[in-house]
Amino acid sequence: MTTPIGVFFDIDGTLLHVDGAGRRAFSRAIETVFGWQDTIEYIQFAGATDLDVLHRIAKVQGGTLTESGIRKFFDQLPAELANTAHEGDATLFSGVRELIERLAAHPDAHLGLITGNEERCARIKLSLFGLDPHFAFGAYGHEHGDRIEIARLADQRLLELLPPDTRPRRYLLGDTPSDIAAARAIDATAIGVATGVFGRQALLEAGADLVLDTLANTGEILAFLGFSHSA
Ligand SMILES: [Mg+2]
Repeated sequence: MTTPIGVFFDIDGTLLHVDGAGRRAFSRAIETVFGWQDTIEYIQFAGATDLDVLHRIAKVQGGTLTESGIRKFFDQLPAELANTAHEGDATLFSGVRELIERLAAHPDAHLGLITGNEERCARIKLSLFGLDPHFAFGAYGHEHGDRIEIARLADQRLLELLPPDTRPRRYLLGDTPSDIAAARAIDATAIGVATGVFGRQALLEAGADLVLDTLANTGEILAFLGFSHSA
């Protein structure tokens, strides 16, 4: 029996860039739901989770978040993103489409998301490039404020897809030290990609097992993940 391989991906800065659409959607959604006018320029989204960002904004605004307020916000956010995502220039990074399509075609590969995005937001961003159907499962930024816990949820969901007692190999590809920490927490090999705001050195210092400048070299990445050239 071959070993299943779980390949987890972060989205923003790793696969694609949406040119501020996420920030604009966030800003509009907090105004619609809570009445807070805030351009949230003080928020660093790289490596963050949507739930944690919402809590940080609430603190700055001196507002209180209730369960129902959080729920309303996470209904509004994807509705706003559906508009803002089409206002700017979204970019799919070099090599991403080939890598995802090659992995998705491999019977031993299970592609998952470990992202700070709320789930529908994650799907909206991927669907800009037709990539969302390739990710069968994942865990998302509305589920927990801590990316490490999001990674644990995604890892559980991977195991639920596999026969009992299966021990998959796991890889996580991401562009921030938070992704590297999340990989560590679930015993995944951490692959840093320097296509976001963090450079090679920062990702190495965070403990990445491998750092790539881009995802352009599909053959090299597939080989590192343990897939043969025929994959
Ligand atoms: Mg990222």
